[in-house]
Amino acid sequence: MFCTSCGYQLSAGMNLCPNCGAQVAQPAAAVQAPSIPNYLVQSILVTLCCCMPFGVVAIVYAAQVSTKLAAGDMAGAQQSSKNAKMWCWLGVAGGLVASVIWFALVGIGIINQHGLR
Ligand SMILES: [Zn+2]
Repeated sequence: MFCTSCGYQLSAGMNLCPNCGAQVAQPAAAVQAPSIPNYLVQSILVTLCCCMPFGVVAIVYAAQVSTKLAAGDMAGAQQSSKNAKMWCWLGVAGGLVASVIWFALVGIGIINQHGLR
């Protein structure tokens, strides 16, 4: 970055120009943007391993995070990130519930089979 009043080259993080003493405003791009997780990997895992419908919704929100970040929509990206996380967890929970029900049905099926004999 360069001093806004004299053009002297400044090292990153300097607030005062050593050449002319002017207060240097940090450019907006240099301000550390909060990293917003997009949960894309988790969404894909949920889709593949747990619960496909919830995982697909999570992937849609995960994809929105990067599009909104690229558009500079921080609040929107954060909201989509939250939604992606929520649908990931719903997918995990849904997958767990589905397997519990499946095992319960299998268990009941075995018990019934044995009970009939
Ligand atoms: Zn200067």
